[in-house]
Amino acid sequence: MSHLMNTYARLPVAFERGEGVWLWDEAGNKYLDALAGIAVNTLGHAHPALVKTISEQAARLIHTSNLFRIPLQERASDLLAEITGLDEVFFCNSGCEANEAAIKLARLYGHQRGVTEPHIIVLEDAFHGRTIATLSATGSRKVQAGFEPLVPGFVRVSMNDLDTVRGIADRDSNVVAVMMEPIQGEGGINIARLEYLRGLREICERKEWLFIADEVQCGLGRTGKWFVYQHAGIKPDVVPLAKGLAGGVPVGACVAGGRAAGVFKPGNHGSTFGGNPLAMAALITTLETIRQTDLLGNAERVGRVIRDALVRELGDLPGVREIRGMGLMLGIELDRPCGELVTRALAAGLVLNVTHDTVIRLLPALIMSEAEGREVVARLAPLVRSFLQEGKPVPKAAAH
Ligand SMILES: *Cc1c(COP(=O)(O)O)cnc(C)c1O
Repeated sequence: MSHLMNTYARLPVAFERGEGVWLWDEAGNKYLDALAGIAVNTLGHAHPALVKTISEQAARLIHTSNLFRIPLQERASDLLAEITGLDEVFFCNSGCEANEAAIKLARLYGHQRGVTEPHIIVLEDAFHGRTIATLSATGSRKVQAGFEPLVPGFVRVSMNDLDTVRGIADRDSNVVAVMMEPIQGEGGINIARLEYLRGLREICERKEWLFIADEVQCGLGRTGKWFVYQHAGIKPDVVPLAKGLAGGVPVGACVAGGRAAGVFKPGNHGSTFGGNPLAMAALITTLETIRQTDLLGNAERVGRVIRDALVRELGDLPGVREIRGMGLMLGIELDRPCGELVTRALAAGLVLNVTHDTVIRLLPALIMSEAEGREVVARLAPLVRSFLQEGKPVPKAAAH
């Protein structure tokens, strides 16, 4: 036993080294990484450009403080403004902090307009983080249980249902924002319809609500465009980002534009570590590498290869409910809990994850090649096939 607090039921594997989409454990076993540290290692492991940037920046300057100008932070914000189409950026260190900033921004926006008890519309099965405010916004009893009282002010609706949102718009004058993931990650790779995103944008426009698109997991090139909202041709007001932003160096960002720009003033929000030179150098190199080596195009191409192969190998199996996703954010929903597939995949040299009990989740690095993509399916398909042949589906209620 170590002295670690018992917050994770960890798998008994420790990786020692990585290169590209490959990992090696302490015993020298080699694994194909289809998870990328939960959508974090955008450029794979030990990418030469990122290694060079981080080592050079560490030797020059790691941290100063936001009490001073940080030129690398200014450059990073220019880059994020350019790719998001928004105006200004607050830097922090994680996804929950990016969402905390978004929630605070929405509340302050409300107060500035005379709404003293602002409400934010959130979705069922949403995941926004583990801090008290973000777990309150999260749509999972498992995440919330035991941490009551929750932060008030969140109104929950189901995804892809615009009528309920219109109904709330007609009767709740305290609403100041909608906060949602264009593709829910932890919730099971649930994709918002593009018409739904456009409809939300329209309601937000009419009611002067802020549209907060939490792209912490789905954003930053994974779906073949920089952001999922760009597939719908819309622009949110606030975009919280983290995970893949700096290739594994912890960085979060809350990007704001339109009526969400200019809401925060000095003293309203802050972060000691946020946007330090080391983090910003890693962010700039990660985003520039994505652009210079066309990783958006690669994500789309390799995503299609994996998806087509999954449909071919598994699509007709009884027990496979749906194969869905965009680009390199893919889910295979089974008709039964399948958490044990994670251990079996490890034994077969494949790193993946199961979310929402029944959804096998693939989130590989954006640098994965087509051949490596096919190899993911070659390793995964037999595992799923034999798993499904073993037993009858367990009814979901009985599994808990
Ligand atoms: C992972 C995730 C978060 C939380 O990010 P942390 O860095 O773990 O705080 C928030 N929103 C979404 C959509 C996520 O996938």
